[in-house]
Amino acid sequence: MTTTTRMPGVAALLGAVLGFGLPIGFASSAIASPEVIEVLATTEQGGVISAVQFGPPSAARQVVVIGQMHGDEPAGRRVVRELADRLAAGLQLPADTAIWLVGTMNPDGARAGTRVNAAGVDLNRNFPQGWRQQGRATATWSGPSAGSEAETVAISEFLDRVKPAAVLSFHQPFAVVDITHPGSRVAGRVLAGWLGLPARAVGCPGPCYGTLTGWVAEHHSAIALTVELPPRVRAAGIERSATAVLRLTRWLAR
Ligand SMILES: [Zn+2]
Repeated sequence: MTTTTRMPGVAALLGAVLGFGLPIGFASSAIASPEVIEVLATTEQGGVISAVQFGPPSAARQVVVIGQMHGDEPAGRRVVRELADRLAAGLQLPADTAIWLVGTMNPDGARAGTRVNAAGVDLNRNFPQGWRQQGRATATWSGPSAGSEAETVAISEFLDRVKPAAVLSFHQPFAVVDITHPGSRVAGRVLAGWLGLPARAVGCPGPCYGTLTGWVAEHHSAIALTVELPPRVRAAGIERSATAVLRLTRWLAR
């Protein structure tokens, strides 16, 4: 769906679409509407997973930012909100680059304040890459089968359509950029430098099964980075994170 909504509607629209509840405030009068707004899925409890795109829809380079996967890790949503705010205010992306913003891919978990979704599944163990049944009745339950959850299906089908050059998945609280995937290491190190965080291969307790970035790295051969923000992030940290993401788009286009 292409939107033609104009200010002030676009601010309220973005806030609603990205799941913030409140309209995004704008300082600038030059408002650029996102090119595309998509509803990717409605969840078990009626939550909406949506994505908004800025930049040319057919751009060769598509960058995807997922603000939240675990419902008890809210800081990345604020980063997405900051990005939406700047882009809607007219900030330009590099040539031939588009960015997709997903506020949360776990609206039910966000509402409940839980890591897992409404079915008790850790979405970061539910992707098909290397999936294994593990952790039932714990906060890292992989679910009854690979890709069993509507959230996982929505994001994987979305990424299959978008064919991203890079996917950034925000988490908390470990304050590190995970460079587990070999094809993502160089990008991960430069991003970490801009974020002021260390970069290292974090992995999981034991091998990682069914992670989003593992699936993206393998299935799409794309840059796939988990960004772990600290437990508490001040406004300056949110701004710095948004700036780092935008710098990465320029780095990718260099
Ligand atoms: Zn997490």
